[in-house]
Amino acid sequence: LEERPRSCLLRFRHKLEEDIKPSYLMDHMISDGVMTVDEEEKIRSQPTRKEQAVALLELLLRKDNRAYISFYNALVKETYDDLANLLHDDLPYVLPDAHKSSSDGYTPYVQAMLSEGGVPQRPVVFVSRPELVNRVREKLYRLQKDPGWVTVFGMAGSGKSILAAEAVRHQGLIEECFPGGIHWLSIGQLDKPDLLVKIQSLCFRLEQSLDSQSLHRPPNSLDEAKERLRFLMLRRYPRALLILDDIWDSTVLKTFDIHCRILLTTRNRSLTDSVSGAKYEVEVESGLDENKALEILALYTDTKLHGLPEEARSIVRECKGSPLVVSLIGALLKEKPNRWRYYLSQLQQKQFKRIRKSSSYDYDALDQAMAASIEVLPEDHQELYKDFTVLEQDIKVPAKVLSVLWDLEPEEVEDILEEFVNKSLLFVDSHNKPYLYYLHDLQLDFLVEQNRTQLEVSWMQELKLLRITMNDVYYGPPISGDEECLYWIRFLTYHMAKANLCQELYSLMFSLDWVSIKSKIMGPAHLINDYVEYGPILDKEVSNQFQEFLSLNGHQLEQRPFPDVVQLALSQPHTSEVYRQALLQAQDRASRG
Ligand code: ADP
Repeated sequence: LEERPRSCLLRFRHKLEEDIKPSYLMDHMISDGVMTVDEEEKIRSQPTRKEQAVALLELLLRKDNRAYISFYNALVKETYDDLANLLHDDLPYVLPDAHKSSSDGYTPYVQAMLSEGGVPQRPVVFVSRPELVNRVREKLYRLQKDPGWVTVFGMAGSGKSILAAEAVRHQGLIEECFPGGIHWLSIGQLDKPDLLVKIQSLCFRLEQSLDSQSLHRPPNSLDEAKERLRFLMLRRYPRALLILDDIWDSTVLKTFDIHCRILLTTRNRSLTDSVSGAKYEVEVESGLDENKALEILALYTDTKLHGLPEEARSIVRECKGSPLVVSLIGALLKEKPNRWRYYLSQLQQKQFKRIRKSSSYDYDALDQAMAASIEVLPEDHQELYKDFTVLEQDIKVPAKVLSVLWDLEPEEVEDILEEFVNKSLLFVDSHNKPYLYYLHDLQLDFLVEQNRTQLEVSWMQELKLLRITMNDVYYGPPISGDEECLYWIRFLTYHMAKANLCQELYSLMFSLDWVSIKSKIMGPAHLINDYVEYGPILDKEVSNQFQEFLSLNGHQLEQRPFPDVVQLALSQPHTSEVYRQALLQAQDRASRG
């Protein structure tokens, strides 16, 4: 019901309740299709005319514009002319069949229902994510017959709240599943007294719209609040949906474990483990498609998609399409449209702190959102999480690598990783066996930024890591398919360079054995890359010699069976370190027969 007809009904409620004969009016309303026979029966079952009238008005207040119009027409037909006159001025304007033709649209009915429940409006800059929205709606439809929970989870700023609000912006869904209304509650991180206040005001809101002279005192403990809410949802608002936005804590959720219909957004996937009832979940991927993200920038800067400068694409790529970051930058560009290059470089230099908040977001910047996520971990796990700084961007690791790093049993490591994943602090690639774990680029940047002062610590960790694994990897027989081994063959050089182990890196990279192992397993391209990357800090001359050898023999090294590297190396110039080592090995072989 729109605001005006609604307030009109409330204003004249008592007068209407005094005068009308519901049974007559309801016949008309049923034939108009705005009321069901069940609803009529319920009202008829009230003992007195007055009580029936009260119930009819209560029902009417929960209905849409069409019901108001039908009620008005019924008054006219039953010659309650003076009552009909009271309602006349606030008759809503309804397009012929507007109800049906835009059943999934943002109809006045939907608008009224959602604004009454405090559901946030669409932001001015908004891009649709139809596939995700449909996934959430599909889960919400499962709550049609029975109560239960739908969890929307994903990392900070991935667009969960906006998605939740969008999903319920649908007339069909509301009518079929949640005719009792949609009620939004922003939770966030809060303590018990704050939670109590939130539920008090929710109860107040719910009681108010039933009966403007509510005489209930507010519940004054969480238990009491829970009971009050249980009663309200069960008796007065059956088939309503509660949306709990940004839940952190399962104890908060327990307060809402009252057998009703709930949609919640959270970074922590496993929150509903501790509550009862049917549970469904939808994961929100952390980034938008490139085009959607560009669309946001275009909307903010009032540009056409193809008119965006080249930096736009780089910005999107740099933050992996994070809706939050793209919007933050878009909002800045709206103010300062000639700063594309500047903001891009800020982003590249990880200067998140300078990227100020958009007003609709609770956190000052992305790093605060991240910090908050980490702070709720148990302290020892916070420390472990920091160790992810040793990983390289875009690289996925198996649990075994972390079990070396943390010096913990594999099972324990699995549990910890699962916790991180469930809290959206870590991602898992489960298509792979064993599973591979990785951080979102923004998370890794954040961690590195945060722990810059503690970098020595992570070097220590790298040293520890290297010491344990170097022997295994370097000298042990590499088993292809063993993810841990592959990881080390690929990244040993990277970790050594980062840990400043120049001596070790030197002897590793400039050894024919290593060249043979790594090129056999990874192919020569990775090796060449190592020389390009680290050669200059070691010995440019020698590095060039190895690089040359690899470039000349690249095609041979791709062949299977794998060629004899010593043989190949013997054809290098005699002044080359590659040749020198090959010669030594050949002599060694000869002397051993
Ligand atoms: P979450 O709840 O996952 O932390 P929000 O839903 O609050 O994330 O979104 C964070 C910010 O990202 C929003 O304030 C908005 O600026 C931007 N955003 C998210 N989704 C969209 C979207 N579909 N269209 C435009 N901007 C979006």
